[in-house]
Amino acid sequence: MPRTIVHVDMDAFYAAIEQRDHPELRGKPVIVGGRPGSRGVVSSASYEARAFGVRSAMPSTEAQRLCPEAIFAPVDMPKYAEASRTLMKVLESFSPTIEPLSIDEAFLDASGTERLFGPPEELGRAIKCRVLETLQITASVGIAPNKFLAKLASDLRKPDGLVVVGEGEAPALLDDLPIRKLFGVGEATEERLQRLGIATIGQLARYPRDILIQHFGQAGEHLSDLANGIDERPVETEREARSLSTEVTFDEDIADYERLEAVLFDLSEQVAWRLRKQRLRARTFTLRVRFADFDTVSRSRSQKRASNHGPLIFRSLCEPLAGLRESRRAVRLLGVAATQLCGEGDEAQLSLFGDDELEKARAVDEVLDAISARFGRGTIGRGRTLRPDS
Ligand SMILES: [Mg+2]
Repeated sequence: MPRTIVHVDMDAFYAAIEQRDHPELRGKPVIVGGRPGSRGVVSSASYEARAFGVRSAMPSTEAQRLCPEAIFAPVDMPKYAEASRTLMKVLESFSPTIEPLSIDEAFLDASGTERLFGPPEELGRAIKCRVLETLQITASVGIAPNKFLAKLASDLRKPDGLVVVGEGEAPALLDDLPIRKLFGVGEATEERLQRLGIATIGQLARYPRDILIQHFGQAGEHLSDLANGIDERPVETEREARSLSTEVTFDEDIADYERLEAVLFDLSEQVAWRLRKQRLRARTFTLRVRFADFDTVSRSRSQKRASNHGPLIFRSLCEPLAGLRESRRAVRLLGVAATQLCGEGDEAQLSLFGDDELEKARAVDEVLDAISARFGRGTIGRGRTLRPDS
């Protein structure tokens, strides 16, 4: 049975939201991100700004040089997160099997919904229409028999695009594309493939599979499959996800480890909150640190019992953070990831707490969650939160 996989990707999400909320910005080059002159980068650029060569993650100063008339707007994360929640709700009305990839992007498995929504083209139009009606901003949609092709398709006619790739159309679509367009092919793999004389996806598709496996091991098999338009990966809902993480990139590198500890506390609370929202716990928590020179280290700590309690996550990651303090190196990114997830009912949460203490901790979590749910996250904390970008 061929699947119907949909990839929805909002167009210039943050910039589009700012243009929606500030009509005077419509039709103008808008850049959401750090101010030029600061160490900030471009988080999102409107299509008018992209015409000047402005791209995401580019230093704001360079963006301003490319497009002097650009209007800069600060990042308003709570507003975009709210729009993201609305977006995901709209998408859930088309299929319960939805895998959010980022704040403005998701996969849907819409197999078997034809009777409800019609053939793929109609489904795609309906999704775009409902998103536009609800959020007043546009989405690009790709529909294909698998994730790889759907994601590729959504990118082909941006902005406001809709591309449907049928079962037999993959070879024609892929043939001339550079190998860089393949999922998982970064600079290093690209170089190694080029040394074998492979520059396009078509060339990779026709390359002998066994030789690819000799060179790349199991990854060779995967590359060959993708190049031939084969991708069996299922759409995984957040509950089935194997990890959950959150991170923050600082406007200015931070060498003050007490401040970093405060940020770590906040990130731990965020991860705990997201776990509890999904009724999940995790056994392993990982601290990710990227230094000013882009060198990145990860330190993991596993617990005997799975947890979704913020202070516990914080305590387990404090020691690895303290270990990095000696180096006095300035940090540009801090992240916390939770892995080895399990459902809340699957395992009792005891760990460092006695039963009584655990009950108390849980009661506090429940109150905090109830308040956050009513007034939005960040309204209340345990008296030790610091917004990294405030
Ligand atoms: Mg997008």
